[in-house]
Amino acid sequence: MLIIRNPATGAVIAQKPVDTASQIADKYRRARKAQPTWAQTPYQIRAAAILRFRDLLIKNADDLAQTLSAEMGKPLSQAKGEIRATPQRIDFFLKHTEEAMKEELAAESGLTGGTREVITQEPLGVIANISAWNYPYFVGNNVFIPALLTGNTVLYKPSEFATLSGIAIDSMMHEAGIPADAFITVIGGGAEGAEILKHPVNGVFFTGSYGTGKKIAESVAGRMIRIQLELGGKDPVYVCEDVDIEKAAESLAEGAFYNAGQSCCAVERIYVNEKIYDTFLDAFTKNVKSYKCGDPMQDGTFIGPLTRAPQLDILDRQVQEARDKGARILAGGKRMLGPGQYYEPTVIADANNSLAVMREESFGPVIGLQKVKDDEEALRLMNDTDYGLTAGVYTANEDRAKRILSQVDSGSVYWNCCDRVSPRLPWTGRRNSGMGSTLSVIGIRAFLQPRAWHLRAP
Ligand code: NAD
Repeated sequence: MLIIRNPATGAVIAQKPVDTASQIADKYRRARKAQPTWAQTPYQIRAAAILRFRDLLIKNADDLAQTLSAEMGKPLSQAKGEIRATPQRIDFFLKHTEEAMKEELAAESGLTGGTREVITQEPLGVIANISAWNYPYFVGNNVFIPALLTGNTVLYKPSEFATLSGIAIDSMMHEAGIPADAFITVIGGGAEGAEILKHPVNGVFFTGSYGTGKKIAESVAGRMIRIQLELGGKDPVYVCEDVDIEKAAESLAEGAFYNAGQSCCAVERIYVNEKIYDTFLDAFTKNVKSYKCGDPMQDGTFIGPLTRAPQLDILDRQVQEARDKGARILAGGKRMLGPGQYYEPTVIADANNSLAVMREESFGPVIGLQKVKDDEEALRLMNDTDYGLTAGVYTANEDRAKRILSQVDSGSVYWNCCDRVSPRLPWTGRRNSGMGSTLSVIGIRAFLQPRAWHLRAP
């Protein structure tokens, strides 16, 4: 039984039976059987159902946001923001999927001495979509919408920390007209995720931590199936001396603390040019101290509780080590008293890359800052990590930003912005941040396999 607690109060809000191994086997069989029919369903019919799903998201946004806040503690305004922004991603997929699936004439027979060459695109088959809790609408839709539009059937496992939102997604899918066996939800945690992968699925699309991603990659190794992993990050930003300090501080504080820092692309490390270090620290800390922490359901709350209780211990350990090794705590620095899994928004100055807070994903409202003497030092420190999801530079000079960013080994780079995802751009990590891309046309093709036709008339 999955016991679902509200992280703001500790109260049990629901209990859901998890799927047994035999139920998962049955779900797999149904998804496999339904796949050819779903793939042969005309694209317009598949797209019309996805459009109705999109409209249901908009219609139900307020209720869905309440559920999301209650089960994972995201402030209501941020939950609404996530759900209301999801249709923009669906619109991108609706606009571009048909084109991405189109048959392509690679060469007329006249060009090749008699053989016409054609490329067609086909769905992978049955895909497993194992999802995270921090943005269940964003990360779920990035996978299951293009998967379904391209004719795959989907075994969707929402995170155990976003199960109620997953169940709501499931019922809207079917209300919208997606067949019961084309989109099937599996309820449970890690064991149930692993159980899905015992079946011969044709692709695994995973969003979650590096540790779990590694286990998944190992569990399917040798099966030659499509595998896509969107994992964590330790995203650095460098602030140059030529910025508008107030503006940069406001933007970066929001990038570090939005969703209580529980974003894969949250700003996790900040390097500041020595010429503005002290002034920047003051401006940054002022912003952080202004954030309202508390009940996620209350208007104006910017920082809610942490979704997973064990993360509080990780943050305590990171902060304690930083303190012990001479870093300065300019704000916060401990968990908050009372019910609920709250951690004070914490600013650690004079950090360095030997500290866990600058190396391990904090995934909470804690940030380390370090003074650097120039661009070269900043670049070296930014690249001193196992992760490669996003990186940013704040400067008045675009050429300077591009020069630095082109040498940082990460999937997304930002000039004067951060914590930003676009449906038009591939979302992709390097090294321990993962492999493959969602979003953009590349993230549609991820659900397709090409067939090469060599056609010679007799
Ligand atoms: P997690 O790795 O704990 O769990 C993710 C999912 O995997 C859950 O559904 C879980 O039940 C399942 N799972 C756990 N063990 C499994 C196993 N052995 N086999 C199969 N499935 C298993 O991650 P989380 O706590 O849900 O998410 C937080 C992490 O996700 C952070 O590291 C964050 O950076 C990352 N994330 C990355 C992106 C991105 O786009 N790169 C987006 C969101 C979150």
